[in-house]
Amino acid sequence: MKGNERMEKLTGRVYYLPHDARTDRPVLGYIRGERYALMVDAGNSAAHAALFERQRRELGLPAPAFVGLTHWHWDHVYGLHALGAVSIASRQTGDYLARMARWGWSDEEMEGRIASGEDIPFCCDNIKKEYPDRSQIVVKNADLLFEGGLRLDLGGEVCRACQVGGPHSPDSVVYLLERAGVLFLGDCACEDFHHGPAHYPQKELGELIGRLEALDFEIALTGHWQPQSKEEILHDLKEHIW
Ligand SMILES: [Zn+2]
Repeated sequence: MKGNERMEKLTGRVYYLPHDARTDRPVLGYIRGERYALMVDAGNSAAHAALFERQRRELGLPAPAFVGLTHWHWDHVYGLHALGAVSIASRQTGDYLARMARWGWSDEEMEGRIASGEDIPFCCDNIKKEYPDRSQIVVKNADLLFEGGLRLDLGGEVCRACQVGGPHSPDSVVYLLERAGVLFLGDCACEDFHHGPAHYPQKELGELIGRLEALDFEIALTGHWQPQSKEEILHDLKEHIW
Protein backbone atom coordinates (compact mmCIF):
# COMPACT_ATOMS: atom_id res chain seq x y z
CA MET A 1 0.00 0.00 0.00
CA LYS A 2 1.23 3.44 -0.88
CA GLY A 3 1.77 5.83 2.02
CA ASN A 4 0.51 9.38 2.16
CA GLU A 5 3.09 11.55 0.41
CA ARG A 6 1.23 14.87 0.38
CA MET A 7 1.98 17.71 2.74
CA GLU A 8 -1.12 18.80 4.64
CA LYS A 9 -2.15 22.02 6.32
CA LEU A 10 -2.73 21.45 10.03
CA THR A 11 -3.85 24.94 11.04
CA GLY A 12 -2.93 28.53 10.17
CA ARG A 13 0.79 28.59 9.42
CA VAL A 14 1.45 24.99 10.40
CA TYR A 15 1.83 22.12 7.91
CA TYR A 16 3.05 18.54 8.07
CA LEU A 17 4.08 15.65 5.87
CA PRO A 18 2.26 12.60 7.32
CA HIS A 19 4.13 9.55 8.56
CA ASP A 20 4.68 6.60 6.21
CA ALA A 21 4.90 3.18 7.86
CA ARG A 22 6.43 1.45 4.80
CA THR A 23 9.97 2.41 5.84
CA ASP A 24 9.02 3.97 9.20
CA ARG A 25 9.18 7.57 7.95
CA PRO A 26 7.97 9.90 10.72
CA VAL A 27 5.83 13.04 10.51
CA LEU A 28 7.81 16.09 9.34
CA GLY A 29 6.53 19.47 10.53
CA TYR A 30 6.66 22.90 8.92
CA ILE A 31 5.87 26.30 10.44
CA ARG A 32 5.81 29.41 8.28
CA GLY A 33 6.81 32.40 10.37
CA GLU A 34 6.85 35.94 8.98
CA ARG A 35 10.65 36.00 9.17
CA TYR A 36 11.76 32.37 9.34
CA ALA A 37 10.27 29.00 8.53
CA LEU A 38 11.01 26.04 10.79
CA MET A 39 11.00 22.35 9.92
CA VAL A 40 10.53 19.76 12.69
CA ASP A 41 12.62 16.61 12.20
CA ALA A 42 14.83 15.96 9.19
CA GLY A 43 13.46 12.68 7.80
CA ASN A 44 15.00 9.23 7.58
CA SER A 45 17.01 9.74 4.36
CA ALA A 46 17.91 12.22 1.63
CA ALA A 47 14.93 10.80 -0.31
CA HIS A 48 12.54 11.57 2.55
CA ALA A 49 13.97 15.10 2.93
CA ALA A 50 13.64 15.58 -0.86
CA LEU A 51 9.97 14.51 -0.76
CA PHE A 52 9.35 17.10 1.96
CA GLU A 53 11.12 19.78 -0.10
CA ARG A 54 9.12 18.94 -3.27
CA GLN A 55 5.85 19.12 -1.36
CA ARG A 56 6.85 22.40 0.29
CA ARG A 57 7.70 23.99 -3.07
CA GLU A 58 4.44 22.75 -4.59
CA LEU A 59 2.55 24.61 -1.87
CA GLY A 60 4.65 27.75 -2.56
CA LEU A 61 6.09 27.76 0.97
CA PRO A 62 9.51 29.33 1.67
CA ALA A 63 12.50 27.12 2.50
CA PRO A 64 12.98 26.46 6.22
CA ALA A 65 15.76 28.52 7.79
CA PHE A 66 15.91 26.08 10.74
CA VAL A 67 15.25 22.41 11.33
CA GLY A 68 14.66 21.23 14.91
CA LEU A 69 15.31 17.59 15.84
CA THR A 70 13.06 15.78 18.33
CA HIS A 71 15.52 12.97 19.23
CA TRP A 72 18.41 10.93 17.91
CA HIS A 73 16.63 7.92 16.32
CA TRP A 74 17.64 7.29 12.70
CA ASP A 75 14.20 7.90 11.18
CA HIS A 76 14.13 11.48 12.49
CA VAL A 77 17.69 12.55 11.64
CA TYR A 78 19.33 10.74 8.70
CA GLY A 79 17.84 13.24 6.19
CA LEU A 80 19.70 16.11 7.85
CA HIS A 81 22.72 16.13 5.52
CA ALA A 82 20.41 16.74 2.54
CA LEU A 83 18.83 19.91 4.00
CA GLY A 84 20.16 23.48 3.71
CA ALA A 85 18.59 24.65 6.99
CA VAL A 86 20.52 25.42 10.19
CA SER A 87 19.85 22.49 12.50
CA ILE A 88 18.96 22.62 16.20
CA ALA A 89 19.03 19.80 18.75
CA SER A 90 19.48 19.16 22.45
CA ARG A 91 23.08 18.61 23.52
CA GLN A 92 22.16 15.04 24.42
CA THR A 93 20.80 14.41 20.89
CA GLY A 94 24.07 15.87 19.59
CA ASP A 95 26.03 13.35 21.68
CA TYR A 96 24.02 10.45 20.21
CA LEU A 97 24.49 11.81 16.66
CA ALA A 98 28.26 12.02 17.17
CA ARG A 99 28.27 8.39 18.29
CA MET A 100 26.13 7.20 15.35
CA ALA A 101 28.34 9.05 12.86
CA ARG A 102 31.02 6.43 13.63
CA TRP A 103 28.75 3.46 12.86
CA GLY A 104 29.48 1.19 9.87
CA TRP A 105 26.67 -0.36 7.84
CA SER A 106 27.77 -3.86 6.85
CA ASP A 107 25.41 -6.71 7.84
CA GLU A 108 27.97 -7.79 10.46
CA GLU A 109 28.19 -4.32 12.00
CA MET A 110 24.39 -3.97 12.12
CA GLU A 111 24.00 -7.41 13.70
CA GLY A 112 26.75 -6.57 16.20
CA ARG A 113 24.84 -3.49 17.36
CA ILE A 114 21.66 -5.54 17.82
CA ALA A 115 23.64 -8.06 19.89
CA SER A 116 25.16 -5.28 22.05
CA GLY A 117 21.80 -3.54 22.52
CA GLU A 118 22.92 -0.36 20.74
CA ASP A 119 20.27 -0.83 18.07
CA ILE A 120 17.09 -2.88 17.62
CA PRO A 121 15.86 -5.23 14.87
CA PHE A 122 12.88 -2.99 14.00
CA CYS A 123 15.18 -0.06 13.09
CA CYS A 124 17.69 -2.25 11.23
CA ASP A 125 14.91 -3.86 9.16
CA ASN A 126 13.52 -0.46 8.16
CA ILE A 127 16.98 0.97 7.43
CA LYS A 128 17.52 -1.91 4.99
CA LYS A 129 14.16 -1.11 3.32
CA GLU A 130 14.81 2.65 3.11
CA TYR A 131 18.40 2.19 1.90
CA PRO A 132 18.90 -0.43 -0.84
CA ASP A 133 22.48 0.98 -0.89
CA ARG A 134 23.64 1.57 2.69
CA SER A 135 26.76 3.45 1.55
CA GLN A 136 24.27 6.35 1.08
CA ILE A 137 23.75 6.68 4.85
CA VAL A 138 25.21 9.93 6.18
CA VAL A 139 24.90 10.95 9.84
CA LYS A 140 25.40 14.68 10.32
CA ASN A 141 25.49 16.45 13.65
CA ALA A 142 23.31 19.48 14.42
CA ASP A 143 24.65 23.03 14.02
CA LEU A 144 23.26 24.45 17.28
CA LEU A 145 23.00 22.43 20.49
CA PHE A 146 20.97 23.68 23.46
CA GLU A 147 20.59 22.60 27.09
CA GLY A 148 17.05 22.24 28.44
CA GLY A 149 15.16 24.59 26.15
CA LEU A 150 15.21 27.30 23.51
CA ARG A 151 12.85 30.00 22.22
CA LEU A 152 12.82 30.74 18.52
CA ASP A 153 10.96 33.86 17.30
CA LEU A 154 9.86 32.98 13.78
CA GLY A 155 7.94 36.27 13.34
CA GLY A 156 4.25 36.15 14.32
CA GLU A 157 4.87 32.79 16.00
CA VAL A 158 7.25 31.79 18.75
CA CYS A 159 8.44 28.20 18.89
CA ARG A 160 9.56 26.81 22.25
CA ALA A 161 11.80 23.76 22.16
CA CYS A 162 11.65 21.90 25.51
CA GLN A 163 13.63 18.80 26.37
CA VAL A 164 10.99 16.65 28.09
CA GLY A 165 12.77 13.28 28.05
CA GLY A 166 10.20 10.59 28.84
CA PRO A 167 9.88 6.84 28.34
CA HIS A 168 11.02 6.66 24.70
CA SER A 169 14.42 8.38 24.81
CA PRO A 170 15.97 10.70 27.41
CA ASP A 171 16.99 13.30 24.80
CA SER A 172 13.38 13.82 23.57
CA VAL A 173 12.48 17.42 22.72
CA VAL A 174 9.00 18.79 21.95
CA TYR A 175 8.38 21.90 19.84
CA LEU A 176 5.52 24.09 21.07
CA LEU A 177 3.85 26.76 18.92
CA GLU A 178 2.18 28.88 21.55
CA ARG A 179 0.01 30.97 19.27
CA ALA A 180 -1.16 28.14 17.02
CA GLY A 181 -1.67 25.80 20.00
CA VAL A 182 0.28 23.01 18.32
CA LEU A 183 2.79 20.65 19.92
CA PHE A 184 5.16 18.47 17.89
CA LEU A 185 6.12 15.56 20.13
CA GLY A 186 8.35 13.34 18.01
CA ASP A 187 8.22 9.93 19.69
CA CYS A 188 8.36 11.06 23.34
CA ALA A 189 4.93 9.55 24.05
CA CYS A 190 6.00 6.12 22.73
CA GLU A 191 7.40 3.16 24.62
CA ASP A 192 11.05 2.45 25.31
CA PHE A 193 12.05 0.03 22.53
CA HIS A 194 15.75 -0.05 23.32
CA HIS A 195 15.88 -1.82 26.68
CA GLY A 196 14.17 -5.20 26.39
CA PRO A 197 10.58 -5.66 25.18
CA ALA A 198 8.70 -2.40 24.45
CA HIS A 199 7.52 -0.92 27.75
CA TYR A 200 6.73 2.32 29.58
CA PRO A 201 9.18 3.00 32.44
CA GLN A 202 6.82 4.39 35.10
CA LYS A 203 8.96 7.17 36.56
CA GLU A 204 9.70 8.66 33.15
CA LEU A 205 6.06 8.24 32.10
CA GLY A 206 4.80 10.14 35.15
CA GLU A 207 7.30 12.95 34.61
CA LEU A 208 6.36 13.24 30.94
CA ILE A 209 2.63 13.42 31.70
CA GLY A 210 3.30 16.24 34.19
CA ARG A 211 5.44 18.15 31.67
CA LEU A 212 2.89 17.82 28.85
CA GLU A 213 0.01 18.83 31.13
CA ALA A 214 1.91 22.04 31.93
CA LEU A 215 2.20 23.02 28.25
CA ASP A 216 -0.57 25.00 26.58
CA PHE A 217 -1.62 23.31 23.30
CA GLU A 218 -4.71 21.95 21.56
CA ILE A 219 -3.28 19.83 18.76
CA ALA A 220 -0.64 17.15 19.38
CA LEU A 221 1.33 15.73 16.48
CA THR A 222 3.36 12.64 17.31
CA GLY A 223 5.99 11.11 15.06
CA HIS A 224 4.11 8.10 13.75
CA TRP A 225 0.41 8.88 14.04
CA GLN A 226 -2.26 11.35 12.99
CA PRO A 227 -3.00 14.60 14.86
CA GLN A 228 -4.69 14.23 18.27
CA SER A 229 -6.10 16.58 20.88
CA LYS A 230 -4.22 17.29 24.13
CA GLU A 231 -6.91 15.31 25.98
CA GLU A 232 -6.47 12.29 23.69
CA ILE A 233 -2.68 12.14 23.99
CA LEU A 234 -2.78 12.52 27.77
CA HIS A 235 -5.55 9.94 28.04
CA ASP A 236 -3.50 7.49 25.94
CA LEU A 237 -0.43 8.04 28.13
CA LYS A 238 -2.38 7.58 31.39
CA GLU A 239 -3.65 4.20 30.12
CA HIS A 240 -0.07 2.95 30.56
CA ILE A 241 0.19 3.82 34.27
CA TRP A 242 0.08 0.64 36.34
ZN1 LIG B 1 12.15 7.24 18.19
